[in-house]
Amino acid sequence: MPQAIQRIALLGARKIPHLKFVARHPTLTTILATLALLAAISFRAYSDPLPAGFVRLADVDRTIRQDIRYAGLENFLHRKANGYEAPVCILTEQAAKALASVQRALSAKGLTLIVFDCDRPARAVADMGEWTRQGGPPDPQWYPTLERGHLIAKGYVGELSSHSRGSTVDLAIARAGKKSAARPACGAPDTGTLDFGTGFDCFDPTSQMAYRPLGAEAAANRKMLLAAMRAAGFRNYAREWWHFRLADEPSPKQRFDFPVTAN
Ligand SMILES: [Zn+2]
Repeated sequence: MPQAIQRIALLGARKIPHLKFVARHPTLTTILATLALLAAISFRAYSDPLPAGFVRLADVDRTIRQDIRYAGLENFLHRKANGYEAPVCILTEQAAKALASVQRALSAKGLTLIVFDCDRPARAVADMGEWTRQGGPPDPQWYPTLERGHLIAKGYVGELSSHSRGSTVDLAIARAGKKSAARPACGAPDTGTLDFGTGFDCFDPTSQMAYRPLGAEAAANRKMLLAAMRAAGFRNYAREWWHFRLADEPSPKQRFDFPVTAN
């Protein structure tokens, strides 16, 4: 038992006269303090609910692959973004259910969705904006042709992001059960997706959904992703083939700032 808890239990017992009996009996004190600790632990487990209308994607569809990049180091920041406490996809219930319907259609073809980012806390968006404004040279992995300070003006980093409304998702398609694809020259490496011409978060004109010339396979995969997402009510952001927003989103005007947590 942590000493601090035992001390608190003893102090409490001393201050309340009828608990002096308890203080004189260390075993009883230990039991009470343990109960207090267990109560504190279970309170913590249930004290972090999501805002109403939000769900963890895994609770709606466990089969959708998750590779939440801003919770780790392999993203354009080269560090974790503020507000990501776990690599977990959180979305509005409507967006999660719509994604599950896309997943059902793809799984019939032996494919799976892989999500890179879902709800993005407003504090993470602010963090990315601040980081971008610090400026710097191009980064061959993530923005090979742009200065860092130009990422906002070019539309790759937003001062505000629809991701903070909980119905926007960054994603690609992979083969179910195995890793595929070539390692992209630009954007997130090692995601195991089909060939989309670039990796997720390649901040470059080649990431535009309609960019041409593009290899035949990558063009076909972009077309398949676009069609699958449109069928479920999502709209693509033309500059990023991976970015989709649920058109009929439930909170079109509200930004959320709760941390991304596992439970
Ligand atoms: Zn996005």
